[in-house]
Amino acid sequence: MTINHHPSDETLMRTVSGTLGAGPALVVSVHLERCAVCRDRLVGFEAVGGAILDEMPPAPLSADLFGRTMERLEADLPSRPQKAARVKQPALGIELPRAMQDCEIGPWKWLGPGFRWSKVRIAGSPDAKIMLLKGRAGLHLPAHGHSGLEFMQVLSGSLSDERGQYFPGDLDEAGDDVDHRPVVGQESDCICLAALEGDTRLHGFLGRLLRPIVGF
Ligand SMILES: [Zn+2]
Repeated sequence: MTINHHPSDETLMRTVSGTLGAGPALVVSVHLERCAVCRDRLVGFEAVGGAILDEMPPAPLSADLFGRTMERLEADLPSRPQKAARVKQPALGIELPRAMQDCEIGPWKWLGPGFRWSKVRIAGSPDAKIMLLKGRAGLHLPAHGHSGLEFMQVLSGSLSDERGQYFPGDLDEAGDDVDHRPVVGQESDCICLAALEGDTRLHGFLGRLLRPIVGF
């Protein structure tokens, strides 16, 4: 199926420079696994990043940071042979992306009528605000705005809002300018991987929803 919604240029540049938080970075990695278009875009940004570093005066820290980022990106890209899952994961009803194999995934928990969430713990970044969300077929989510960036990758099922339809493989970045009223497709439940940017975004939609429950 064609992927219609992709991370922004800024997000891919931040992926290359290593300045994207662990949660959003994982969402982007999951997207890159499915999206050849964005893998090509990323290679372009890596070339630009390399050229910028070449022109800078010697700065071992930056060069090292870039090198580490490249290593991480290479490790994330799907050309690498599949690793055996080391972490026990509950049955979630979907096949998890390879980028999530080392994540600890919690069981589904109730979040609202027809709406569940599951905590995703990234090795080495236990505080990352990232989770799986599952909405039942036909669920109407409340209209809401955003504060800061929220990243959402559809893993199964579909969602739609005023801006379009989102199918497996699509990544939605919703920022301050987005007010929407998402509806889960009628054909099946929808499972998404969602991450909040940074640590000052707790008043965003997901943050507000989850704060009392998960203590974000
Ligand atoms: Zn893409």
